[in-house]
Amino acid sequence: MSRLVVVSNRVGPLRGAARAGGLAVALADALQRRRGLWFGWSGELAESPAVRARTQTTAGVTRATLDLTQAELDDYYNGFANRCLWPLFHYRLDLAAFDRRFYDGYQRVNRRFAQTLAPLLHDDDLVWVHDYHLLPFAETLREMGAQQKLGFFLHIPFPVRELLTALPSADRLVRALMAYDLIGFQTEGDLQAFRDYVLREAGGIIDGETLRAYGRKVIARAFPIGIDTAQFAQMARSEDARRDAERLKAAIFNRAQIIGVDRLDYTKGLPERFLAYQKLLEDYPDAHGQVSFLQIAPTSRGDVPEYVHIREELETLAGHINGRFAQFDWTPLRYINRAITRRQLAGLYRMSHIGFVTPLRDGMNLVAKEYVAAQDPVDPGVLVLSRFAGCARQMTAALIVNPYDVAGVAEALQTARHMAVEERRERHAELMRGLIENDVSRWCDDFLGVLDRVGPHAPGDAGPSA
Ligand code: UDP
Repeated sequence: MSRLVVVSNRVGPLRGAARAGGLAVALADALQRRRGLWFGWSGELAESPAVRARTQTTAGVTRATLDLTQAELDDYYNGFANRCLWPLFHYRLDLAAFDRRFYDGYQRVNRRFAQTLAPLLHDDDLVWVHDYHLLPFAETLREMGAQQKLGFFLHIPFPVRELLTALPSADRLVRALMAYDLIGFQTEGDLQAFRDYVLREAGGIIDGETLRAYGRKVIARAFPIGIDTAQFAQMARSEDARRDAERLKAAIFNRAQIIGVDRLDYTKGLPERFLAYQKLLEDYPDAHGQVSFLQIAPTSRGDVPEYVHIREELETLAGHINGRFAQFDWTPLRYINRAITRRQLAGLYRMSHIGFVTPLRDGMNLVAKEYVAAQDPVDPGVLVLSRFAGCARQMTAALIVNPYDVAGVAEALQTARHMAVEERRERHAELMRGLIENDVSRWCDDFLGVLDRVGPHAPGDAGPSA
């Protein structure tokens, strides 16, 4: 079996994985099985650009990390990745900053990543690169002569052609992506958008899953990511989770709880969600004093100005809703700006009657899946889910809503509040079947299985526009 090399912006923990997310656990498992290497930024800052990776090997798995300078971090991570690609790929062209300096810094850090990893690679390694921070990574590595099989998975959405063409470097980035052997997307829609770009903007040729353009050839496919379903369900049944749930029940006096859990990000539709909750209280007075909405939204990317604005907007809205509807013994909305551990989340999900997941655009959304996995099958809660979350295509037994339709979302909340237990059980059982079948280790095996099978890399395999 080939050795596995994982490359991502940050390197996850190889131990203490119970505290980490499902993805880190699945990758750590795959790395252990293949005695692999995980490479990325250390999370540390250096005065001057680092020239060599720091490596540390534990139980056959090596973590190799490098430090970045503040300027590199500003241009590559805060700049191009999070102020240009992130908003654009989430359909927020209005927020995208097209700064040439960001792009140059992004290319420079990708090059340094490639230069630092190259000497650590073996000839028959399988290299699996993750996410939008590293779109041009393979191209740079190939320029240094790498012949290994290189796979890439995009965790966020891929925008439709018309939107992508607004990015000045779109063509160069798609061309760079084609230097991989395999590209994985979250949904068929993302895959379709990529194929459309290759066909119509790059003059490429499509033959089943194989795409040819720029003198390069790649296999592109959808691999919807899953969660560690069994482990999460088990965590939600644990004694710790039960204790947290009891504490919370006492705090909300057995009211029906609605829960939202999101990084504080403008893609998550939080202002629209708060407005929909307000609409529920306006249109359905029977909800007064009977529901309690808990929104957990830990701050993220605090160095990016748009994230400061969204925080202020939410604080104002939350204050307004509570000011208008609260009674001396009822706080309608509790908004927590701090991160909660996954173990605690499992308990909170389980005791919540409604999972409220309404992003305006999301690659997949794991919270929706975790909420379902945490439910008691005998008395499960209801998932209210945005049609714009990548997982909506798989999770059709949820109440699917349009997050922009505030009145429609309020209606769905009301439907969820009054849904009979038989219907809740049926919907939950169907959702759970999908989650068990397509968990994160299956996702990992599927991707690596296809990457293993791609033919040897052929640099001279010219496409139509070579
Ligand atoms: N999460 C957490 N604590 C929090 C908020 C979120 O552990 O306070 C976890 C959550 O359980 C989920 C992940 O963060 O596993 C969020 O993934 P998702 O795909 O929903 O959104 P992303 O943040 O990747 O956009």
